[in-house]
Amino acid sequence: MKVFSDKIIRWYHQNKRDLPWRNTQNPYFIWLSEIIMQQTRVEQGMPYYLAFVKAFPAVKYLAKAPNDRIMKMWQGLGYYSRARNLHTTAKIIQEKHNGVFPKSFDEVIKLKGIGEYTAAAIVSFAYNQPHAVVDGNVYRVLARVFGIKTPIDSSKGKKDFLKLANELIDKKNAGIYNQAIMEFGAIQCKPLNPNCSNCVLQAMCYAFETKQINELPIKEKKTKVRNRYFNYVVLKNKNETLIKKRTEKDIWVNLFDFPLIETAKKISLDDFFNSAEWEKMIGKNKYVVKKVSGEYKHILSHQKIFACFYEVEVSASLSKIKINNGLVVPIKSLSKQAVPRLIDKFLEENQL
Ligand code: SF4
Repeated sequence: MKVFSDKIIRWYHQNKRDLPWRNTQNPYFIWLSEIIMQQTRVEQGMPYYLAFVKAFPAVKYLAKAPNDRIMKMWQGLGYYSRARNLHTTAKIIQEKHNGVFPKSFDEVIKLKGIGEYTAAAIVSFAYNQPHAVVDGNVYRVLARVFGIKTPIDSSKGKKDFLKLANELIDKKNAGIYNQAIMEFGAIQCKPLNPNCSNCVLQAMCYAFETKQINELPIKEKKTKVRNRYFNYVVLKNKNETLIKKRTEKDIWVNLFDFPLIETAKKISLDDFFNSAEWEKMIGKNKYVVKKVSGEYKHILSHQKIFACFYEVEVSASLSKIKINNGLVVPIKSLSKQAVPRLIDKFLEENQL
């Protein structure tokens, strides 16, 4: 529908935010920005984007960088699998494509960490290929304007919205059109309090006319959130502490945290230090509990973590305590390690 795309594009030229990744057609920078901005607010992601572009001005630098450096730079952004996939994909582009970002949608979508949405964004923004992007912003705009009530998280919904988006795309200006509809959803047709009173699509908007703005788009499932209880032990001997690299199939893979005993529910201090898990960890080494933190609540998309940190002085060298992937490090070098935001917050608030 040409009138829809024309209105959206005109609106975009007048209202778009000036963002650094908008001034480039370099697929590598577009890819970087798309991965960083997934599930992230622009203000939060912007410094990360600028830091990555500065540190790795071309894909070959990212491919060659040590993984720990990338994880450290990613610290605080969350969803760390994005950083691991970013690195894997950079290496594949460097090795299999001679450092040149592939051009076709079918090749781009084969890369790790790149799904339908990101592939469409890259080939349309960089090469103006007519592949419609459908992200949360686009779902919202289309559901409201065209009154689509199929749940956006159902497979039928995904198919229907993608089909409509591809019918609406301005084939000659695919890149601009895609950016325009996403920006429209982000700053005009927002989830709460959209700016309907001053909207170029008001006259054709189903949700506005039928007063269903708050009902659209429709979602089928509610995300289930799991509560987890983390008991971290900050072991200290002289000026050293023990950390471990997380390698299990779980959150925060390849980041460092402290020795951890996870329990099914909150546990008292006495129960913790009498538990078989703690006795197994500390063995015959003598120790004194120096400090117990309050509760740290850390919320992820599918998990709520309740964490407690026990600072424990151990009389023997920490190398005697055997845990998987353990590493004894000077306390003052902790800030150099890539750690999850939860650990970072604990370190910021506590002098070890
Ligand atoms: S009228 Fe309101 S709901 Fe409809 S497109 Fe405009 S901002 Fe969105």
